[in-house]
Amino acid sequence: MKTEDLLAIAQQQNGPVYVYDAEKIKQQYNRLTQAFNGVNQLRLHYATKALNNISILKYMASLSAGLDTVSIQEVRLGLHAGFDPSMIIFTPNGVSLKEIEEVATMGVQINIDNLSILEQFGSKYPDTPVCIRINPHVMAGGNSNISVGHIDSKFGISIHQIPHLLRITENTKMRINGIHMHTGSDILDIDVFLHASEILFDTAKNFTELEFIDFGSGFKVPYKTGDIETNIEELGEKLTQRFNDFCRHYGRDLTLAFEPGKFLVSQAGYFLTKVNVVKQTTSTVFAQVDSGFNHLIRPMLYGSHHEIVNISNPEGRERFYSVVGYICETDTFGSNRKIAEISEGDYLAFKNAGAYCQTMASNYNSRFRPAEVLWLNGKAHLVRKQETFDDILRNQIELDFAALS
Ligand SMILES: *Cc1c(COP(=O)(O)O)cnc(C)c1O
Repeated sequence: MKTEDLLAIAQQQNGPVYVYDAEKIKQQYNRLTQAFNGVNQLRLHYATKALNNISILKYMASLSAGLDTVSIQEVRLGLHAGFDPSMIIFTPNGVSLKEIEEVATMGVQINIDNLSILEQFGSKYPDTPVCIRINPHVMAGGNSNISVGHIDSKFGISIHQIPHLLRITENTKMRINGIHMHTGSDILDIDVFLHASEILFDTAKNFTELEFIDFGSGFKVPYKTGDIETNIEELGEKLTQRFNDFCRHYGRDLTLAFEPGKFLVSQAGYFLTKVNVVKQTTSTVFAQVDSGFNHLIRPMLYGSHHEIVNISNPEGRERFYSVVGYICETDTFGSNRKIAEISEGDYLAFKNAGAYCQTMASNYNSRFRPAEVLWLNGKAHLVRKQETFDDILRNQIELDFAALS
């Protein structure tokens, strides 16, 4: 997207706004399908939790994507967006048997990640095919908040519990139609991914009725210059070969599935804010924007780096700024960043704001959650209005204390 297009959108809004570039989403989707065009059948389940706007989900459906969901509400969003239940996989962690049963009734593919629920579900519904989430115990990157495949992780059934798992599937006579792993959002190199895949193939040999193997996600996209990006093309080449080998030995063509979230939508997103105050202290120049971790929490929660550019003065002389928000708490978006000279009233764009940004927004400080715009074929389409004061009051019950006393 061009800077002037972003600026025009920012100027039309009365408050901060998320903008998503449909073309970039499509490019990323096509990169993945291209990289794996050597497998018999590929299925990309877009991870809803990254960005769950209903128009984004419909756009994903138009690209022929499936959906990865982690709550019954996400399943409902997917069905509302028009996805066939067979295109949705439900991969929750720690949810109740009741919720899993409800989702199974909708015809959605169930993915179970613990032995307790597996046994209970299998005993009650031996005829409903189930996918199992395996924890291959592979460390993906160094941040334990987003590495979910290692030994202490709460995710998945440990590979060391396979004998126990097999006893359950034999006793219940349940049908396992898929094997799954998701080793987190911080996979740094392809060898780690391939190593985990080998463990998955090994596990898969134990099951005779498989229809698919789901390798989850964890693809890395660059957030700043110099960041490592997963080489999807190289992974495609290597994993395709290995997967096809496996299918030959297995005796049947299986579907290869992924669940990309960040890879599809991160770079497509921009978060646009307005500078309220430029504040000079003894050591720092602060640019304070009309937002905070109520709208974009990743820098504060994960220490994520989001590049910040001044779209009102893109050619201005660069100076150092700390970009902070208006929340009454420390909410630093970026410290001592080199940004084109900022004046009060300028609009700043935060990059890589497509994944895990709007979906994590809150009403902290009683602020409205921002609007969302989809940029499609050179036009801006509003896909979510900014909240209003009614939204702040919604569902609150005002007690009449005079009547209660
Ligand atoms: C969050 C999640 C994903 C998506 O991860 P990204 O890093 O955004 O690609 C995929 N699968 C499961 C099970 C998830 O929980």
